[in-house]
Amino acid sequence: MRGEDIKDPSPPHASEDLRFIADSMLGRLSRWLRLLGYDTLYFPTIEDNKIIRIARSEGRILLTRDTRLIKEKGVGVKFLLLTSNDTVHQVLEVIKIFGLMAGDMKRCALCNGVLKNIEKASVQDSVPEYVYLNFSSFMKCTECGKVYWQGSHIRRFRDRFEKMISVSSESNQDMEETEN
Ligand SMILES: [Zn+2]
Repeated sequence: MRGEDIKDPSPPHASEDLRFIADSMLGRLSRWLRLLGYDTLYFPTIEDNKIIRIARSEGRILLTRDTRLIKEKGVGVKFLLLTSNDTVHQVLEVIKIFGLMAGDMKRCALCNGVLKNIEKASVQDSVPEYVYLNFSSFMKCTECGKVYWQGSHIRRFRDRFEKMISVSSESNQDMEETEN
């Protein structure tokens, strides 16, 4: 077919309904996944039984490095046992297994709350002046109130993500494999 309109160039977010819960060792991984747009629960301290209960009742994929947790309590829970101790490698493991792509910014990196677009005028007192003057689109976490903007930190994060993916596809065999 010829002459089609150019549609939104971003790839379809096939995995956008994936939801995760990360164990208490995986705080940095959780923040990455949230910035990529994925609903990811994380509690710095949580009992094994509780994390399993949430994963099961909410249909979340449990991300963990804890073999014992899976062996003893993981019946009926979808999980990914991460092999690496390094956050970048962990992100790559999750991306590879689930085919993740960077979706829209819609989860708060700090608390996993849903982000909502807000009027520029309403953030004047809560962001630095240069941000207010230089950016036009703002979002606010509906849970903790943190304000986000499409600034350089988001761009840097996305650049890093793209770079990670391209490096990973060049050297998939070099990924760290650790026996537990
Ligand atoms: Zn928040």
